[in-house]
Amino acid sequence: MAKLISGKEVSAKVRAEVKEECEALKAKGIRPGLAVIIVGDDPASRVYVNNKKKACAEVGFVSEEYALPEQTSQEELIALIGELNSKPEINGILCQLPLPKHLDEKAVINAISPMKDVDAFHPSNVGRIMIGDYHFLPCTPAGVMEMIKSEGIEVAGKNCVVIGRSNIVGKPMAMLLLHENGTVTICHSKTKNLKEVCAAADILVAAVGRPKFVTADMVKDGAVVLDVGINRDENGKLCGDVDFAAVEPKASYITPVPGGVGPMTIAMLMKNTLMAAKIQNEL
Ligand code: NAD
Repeated sequence: MAKLISGKEVSAKVRAEVKEECEALKAKGIRPGLAVIIVGDDPASRVYVNNKKKACAEVGFVSEEYALPEQTSQEELIALIGELNSKPEINGILCQLPLPKHLDEKAVINAISPMKDVDAFHPSNVGRIMIGDYHFLPCTPAGVMEMIKSEGIEVAGKNCVVIGRSNIVGKPMAMLLLHENGTVTICHSKTKNLKEVCAAADILVAAVGRPKFVTADMVKDGAVVLDVGINRDENGKLCGDVDFAAVEPKASYITPVPGGVGPMTIAMLMKNTLMAAKIQNEL
């Protein structure tokens, strides 16, 4: 039987800490502000944006929503980001991805001031993470690390396997595990012997985007299993990348879906926005 690492509990703790620090900032006349840009009417993006605004209100931040129509041009979007970059009461800017196809995601990310890039997607922040000298960490991998730390799980010297190499999850996840002195392997769609590589992991992070992809034969007895995936199963029910029922009896720790890594992502966004406000106010 694995111990469940509850993202609900760990994220509530992170948000409570952010709230406390926010109150201390408010006493100094500083109120952190996050601008959230959404282009078009993708229902999933709408849910994420609403959740981010709700989290801001809960910790005491100001949030501004910029809901732009689907046909917004690249120039209009970049111009809005330019305005927000120079707006002092806005400390963090995020543009909800994915963007409509006619917009250039890379150019949009590049337009956000690195000091306000609370998603940590700007190349300058990505580079800083690579050399271990960063202000912000990307929210989902940072959330996974917070869950690992919440249980006092040692990473140093452990075999860590990350399945997935996206810029948002897989690659930075591997880097954060490396910073903690893990011995890290990144697997992806071209990896040979995936099963054997995963079965040697002490810490296994799944960020693939396929329901029940990680089966029991891919997991070593006593492994720590962190499931980043958010998928729908054959019945339309929310599930992760890990076949939870089959893997849970083998693992020592496991994160559920829902209620696992998901809630951590927004909590870490709040942490980054707080950090941005502190840096911009030279605290
Ligand atoms: P992505 O599609 O960009 O990347 C998926 C990765 O999986 C790729 O690098 C690919 O090489 C790898 N992959 C695909 N098929 C594979 C195979 N057969 N064997 C090995 N590797 C394979 O996805 P992403 O943005 O990194 O997201 C991954 C999952 O995490 C998705 O389910 C997404 O919804 C979820 N996600 C969750 C959160 C959260 O807050 N919990 C945040 C971001 C993403």
